[in-house]
Amino acid sequence: MNRLFARNALLPEGWRKDVLIEWDANGTIVRAEAGAALPSGEQVVAQIVEYALPGMINLHSHSFQRALGGRTEKAGDAVGNLKDSFWTWRDLMYRFARNITPEHIEAIAAQLFSECLRHGYTSMCEFHYVQRAPDGAMYPRPAETAERVIAAARLAGIGITMLPVLYSYSGFGESALKPEQKRFKTDPQDVLRVIEALEPLRDAQTEVGVAPHSLRAASVAQINEVLLTLPGDRPVHIHIAEQKQEVQQSLDWSGRRPVQWLLDQVDVNERWCLVHATHLMRDEVDLMAQSGAVAGLCPTTEANLGDGLFPLEDFLAAGGRFGIGSDSHISQSAVEELRWLEYGQRLQHQRRNIAVSAEQRNVGDFLWQGALQGGAQASGRPVGALAPGRRADVIVLDDQHPNLYGLALDEVLGSFVFCGNDNLVKDVMVGGRWVVRNQQHVAQQAIAARFKQTLAELREFR
Ligand code: ZN
Repeated sequence: MNRLFARNALLPEGWRKDVLIEWDANGTIVRAEAGAALPSGEQVVAQIVEYALPGMINLHSHSFQRALGGRTEKAGDAVGNLKDSFWTWRDLMYRFARNITPEHIEAIAAQLFSECLRHGYTSMCEFHYVQRAPDGAMYPRPAETAERVIAAARLAGIGITMLPVLYSYSGFGESALKPEQKRFKTDPQDVLRVIEALEPLRDAQTEVGVAPHSLRAASVAQINEVLLTLPGDRPVHIHIAEQKQEVQQSLDWSGRRPVQWLLDQVDVNERWCLVHATHLMRDEVDLMAQSGAVAGLCPTTEANLGDGLFPLEDFLAAGGRFGIGSDSHISQSAVEELRWLEYGQRLQHQRRNIAVSAEQRNVGDFLWQGALQGGAQASGRPVGALAPGRRADVIVLDDQHPNLYGLALDEVLGSFVFCGNDNLVKDVMVGGRWVVRNQQHVAQQAIAARFKQTLAELREFR
């Protein structure tokens, strides 16, 4: 039996002292008990740590975009009102995606995943849309690129929910794809073929769902067609209402806003994750919260792309569920996402301590626990809690760091999320296996060397 003894551990009911966590050979927790005696004597000696908490779920990732990080921060040729925007960034991203190979996709994802692990994420949801070869042909193996991302997750040791993307159109009303979108092209049959090919890879660390890219790129009829075949417990993710221009195009075409349109036409429930959902009217906030779907919030990317601010306070008041993702991977830190999520609201409302509830007034605790629950739901995997039946995904904080000196237990997550820029994540375990020790990923050097080589090759194409 594998054991960890935490003097302080974050359980679903809050911080508890003297918690003994045990997991089986498959990496699933069989016991998480507070007030336990320190194992001694005849018993196998457990590892003893000061602060243990469940690893975070990164519910929205386009892993290949990690290689673009920091390289789109230069103003283009602004003419009149045509300033840089989400749409000009998207053109740069399309150009980057033109030449990337399956080998590059795997190398970049492995680098990203090792970084995410070092910053406290133990699960990814990969919204995977580069599925065809550069000339637009299907690869001989229909799930070639998805398999590469899953291989990278296994190499790095992170859990993954692979979401092959349905991507058929360039805009509302089924307008034809542009040439630069040919590598993304899939119809419902293509996507179902990819999902079927991935079936043998499903295991305790790997789940497979689906992602209609957006209401721009997939029609309601197509979405319903895929849902008819997909098993009912698999997660479904979609980008929605990220940009005002997208909302306007939806109104022009359908007379309804994207979230209204989706909720009217499709059975949106707990298996769904609505990514961004930035631009909502009050009734959409309530309907989305009532649906049980998770709001997939990506604050650093939404800031980087100039999307806007999600109406978090209203959504929480309506009982809405949320999780965090790093999307374009301008950041790989769960702390930074949660900090931005709260700070955006403070700046907007000119108040403090917004992400709280009557029962949980500590912002750090509310954010971490809330994002664990929403992230777990969106991942479709048994993660997000130190509890029997869940995966043994644990992060251990650096109790020797000054930011954790002299704190009461209910101040630990406040300091972790809001104080300073040092990484307080010291050790990380996924499925009962240590993959980060003393802030180093176990395969960091080999993964980084391959990433460096990949960037050198991709630079040739610029
Ligand atoms: Zn996205």
